Amino acid sequence: MSPVNIWWIRRDIRLKDNQTLQAALKDADQLIPLFIIEPEIMEAAAPKRRAFILNALRDLDQQLRNLGSRLIVRQGPAAKAMGDLFEEFPEAAVFAHEDFSPFARERDAEIKESYDLSLHSSVVLRHPTAVLKDDGEPYIVYTPYKNKWYEEPLPNPGDLLPIPDRLPSLPDNIATMERPEVEQVTDFPATTDEAQRRFSEFLEDGIQHYKSQRDQMNVDSTSQLSPYLRFGLLSIREAFAMAQMALMQAQKDKTRAEIRTWMNELVWREFYTTILFHFPHVMEGPFREEYEDIAWREDQADLEAWQKGQTGYPIVDACMRQLLETGWMHNRGRMIVASFLTKDLLINWQHGEAWFMNNLVDGDPAANNGGWQWSAGTGTDAAPYFRIFNPILQGKKHDPEGEFIAKWVPELQDLPKAFHHEPWEMDEDIAQKYDFKLGRDYPQQIVDHFFARDRTLEAYKAARESEEN
Ligand code: FAD
Repeated sequence: MSPVNIWWIRRDIRLKDNQTLQAALKDADQLIPLFIIEPEIMEAAAPKRRAFILNALRDLDQQLRNLGSRLIVRQGPAAKAMGDLFEEFPEAAVFAHEDFSPFARERDAEIKESYDLSLHSSVVLRHPTAVLKDDGEPYIVYTPYKNKWYEEPLPNPGDLLPIPDRLPSLPDNIATMERPEVEQVTDFPATTDEAQRRFSEFLEDGIQHYKSQRDQMNVDSTSQLSPYLRFGLLSIREAFAMAQMALMQAQKDKTRAEIRTWMNELVWREFYTTILFHFPHVMEGPFREEYEDIAWREDQADLEAWQKGQTGYPIVDACMRQLLETGWMHNRGRMIVASFLTKDLLINWQHGEAWFMNNLVDGDPAANNGGWQWSAGTGTDAAPYFRIFNPILQGKKHDPEGEFIAKWVPELQDLPKAFHHEPWEMDEDIAQKYDFKLGRDYPQQIVDHFFARDRTLEAYKAARESEEN
């Protein structure tokens, strides 16, 4: 019988630089490019993330057809889908890309028990077991992790694998289910061409200013590649290889520092993936035990005001509305709103983590959990608990002209710029001139920042003391 290889696509929805696909192609007379719709993932995913995946699959299917093949889609759970496929092709071998979320690891372990599954490359450049301290323990602080991470060489553009010219045929009459057709996510068209276009543009004019501009919220100061990296429309090896090339071509130390900062963000991605691999308990609660008993407030009205961008703090509301509308939020915005939820409202970061997963196109358990625990001060390498962002100063610093606020909070856009960050500072004459009334046209602040700051410091202190006793 001729060998049938199954290329099981999960978070590597691309043909270019796909080590798993290349491994599956070796000695295969027939190749089945397979995607399994996992109910546990697809039904729980944010609608925009689900749409991104389904559109990325449509794009991949088109590319496969151009090479004489097509995408086979089966309904999960994976164990059931694989069981059916192995009844049809008992001699098949399965090739997949390694993923490290607790769900993925459990699923793959189960499949491996019964079928010939091999894992090739992964969602990160360095495997979570590859960057360890000298004593073999995992790092829990980013900087020494990063230093060790860079000790191994980075890929070169010449190492990237090409798109195959042709693909082996599919077995005759193989069944596939219909792929649900959904609209593209407006701000993130899910195609590999779009991933390449964004990345080229960023390499041309973006990465060279990244360190200086990345915190500016009123302009496109970051790559906006996160959904493409999340689902592998751009390979992580390509991201590092091309950034490394830009680094080598840079003439000035300053430019090199700008580029290096972007690469370090990719290393944060590796770090959080590694943390989740070694400490899966972070999905259930704080990394640091001393913060297990913070007396979080359960206040549904405040939580909803935060979710819907109605807190009365313009920068927070602008970010939350950007998330609702586009499925994405600037990194500085993510830090500001996470600090606001946990420190100003004293609401458990897990509510924020869940809301982000329910709305982000790039929602990723490792990066999202890492970001939330960092912001709440409960994580591995976390901001200290007493670091509490002042949302007004953050807004003024990172959106100095109030343009970002004007875009996302239209109720404020016609007011003089001086009041975009603090509409409550307007005196009555000006408010009358602009026919603006706080509480009617835009919400009153739901909490006083300075009162909230003290309340939070007390709550964190009490949790630490109760742990010590
Ligand atoms: P760029 O600044 O251009 O960075 C390039 C890439 O590096 C990103 O696309 C991303 O893959 C990676 N990256 C950048 N910063 C981080 C970081 N701090 N941690 C891990 N990876 C990083 N990122 C996600 O991909 N998914 C999430 O669910 C997610 N949730 C977050 C939640 C919170 C509370 C915080 C503070 C951060 C979160 N991040 C998450 C990290 C970061 O905000 C986004 O990766 C970034 O904003 C994406 O925009 P970009 O592609 O323009 O990033």
